[in-house]
Amino acid sequence: MERVILLRFSEIFLKGNNRKFFEKKLIDNIKETLKSYEYRFSTSQNRYVVSDYDVDLETEIVERLKKVFGIYSLSVANKVKTDFDEIRKAAVDLFDDTPLKFRVTVRRADKRIEIPSPVMAAEIGGDILEKYPDTSVDLTNFDKEVYVDIRENGYTYIFLDKIHCAGGMPVGSSGKALCLLSGGIDSPVAAYMMAKRGLQIDAIHFHSMPYTSEQAKEKVVSLAKIVSAYAGHIKLHVVPFTEIQENIHKFCPPEYMITIMRRIMMRISERLAMQINAGALVTGESLGQVASQTMQSITVTNKVIERLPVFRPLIGFDKEEIVKISKHIDAFETSILPYQDCCTIFLPKNPVIRPKLELIERAEKALDVEGLIKRAMDNIKVIEVKH
Ligand code: ATP
Ligand code: MG
Repeated sequence: MERVILLRFSEIFLKGNNRKFFEKKLIDNIKETLKSYEYRFSTSQNRYVVSDYDVDLETEIVERLKKVFGIYSLSVANKVKTDFDEIRKAAVDLFDDTPLKFRVTVRRADKRIEIPSPVMAAEIGGDILEKYPDTSVDLTNFDKEVYVDIRENGYTYIFLDKIHCAGGMPVGSSGKALCLLSGGIDSPVAAYMMAKRGLQIDAIHFHSMPYTSEQAKEKVVSLAKIVSAYAGHIKLHVVPFTEIQENIHKFCPPEYMITIMRRIMMRISERLAMQINAGALVTGESLGQVASQTMQSITVTNKVIERLPVFRPLIGFDKEEIVKISKHIDAFETSILPYQDCCTIFLPKNPVIRPKLELIERAEKALDVEGLIKRAMDNIKVIEVKH
């Protein structure tokens, strides 16, 4: 008897001409996440099988696989040669605790086995009842389901649970995007959501040292690392924003500070995106959450974008919904560490809530926008982030 991990993916994105392309991305991503482990990878009909790994590391390997977009569910299974006695033994062996109610489901792809599936299921059920006399069979209200999957290759997989995985599409299958990553709760969630739609993620972060601390920057690196458990390798582009903020602070009306800051962030992000061949920008904005995220603010900010779409996956989400995902991906505890982000320094008391484009454009004339952008972009540092 051998332990193996069975991986299932959705059929939807594997239909048609793109199948090879999606499968290649998915297999590459699985191999990347398991890079530091010894194992064997094989395909069996519409499944992938991970085998020959160190069983002591099984939990770790399963945790990693649960985060690979494109995998819908997995099961840890006992694999035996297709022989009815062996199958029965392996099925009884599955439980480490008495199940309350169970049922047995047999799938017989190998028609050489002549015993009909329901007969097999009944016999296996009988064996389990014999070993665990306090339990009972219930075909509708069961708490454990024993799957017996008899494949055509002469082997049978026997397992208890189908563990729900990340779903979505393989990272990279939709292209690449540049995500504006702050140290807050929202943008790591936005990055995660777009990676789930198959985008490879590069990140851009603006920092204002020495007004913001080294820890604030480290926090963003940690957040990128957390997202990379799902999104794979992330290139984090760190942009010095101090001179820009000082200039806005000095030369522009305080109530326009945030709007102008965000417009310059967007300009830099779009230019960088073009340089690195990213096809979209991603932000963590949510409509109405703060003054800079009203419809009018978003309009005025978006106005500087010339070529690329801006994806705002959280636009219709409540804060609680965002927090729930943030906790699900284990980012929340890091996001709430209390280091100042560049958006919280020089903060005006009354930021404009419904900025007027003409007024903002006029205020921006006080700045050498092109020179500021150039100097910031000349000093971008890239950090390679891997899980
Ligand atoms: P978050 O929780 O993601 O920080 P927020 O609710 O604090 O979002 P804002 O500060 O208005 O909202 O920022 C909106 C979006 O702008 C962020 O989600 C992020 O995509 C981007 N952004 C803000 N500050 C930065 C920064 N310093 N570097 C990179 N992107 C940023
Ligand atoms: Mg923020």
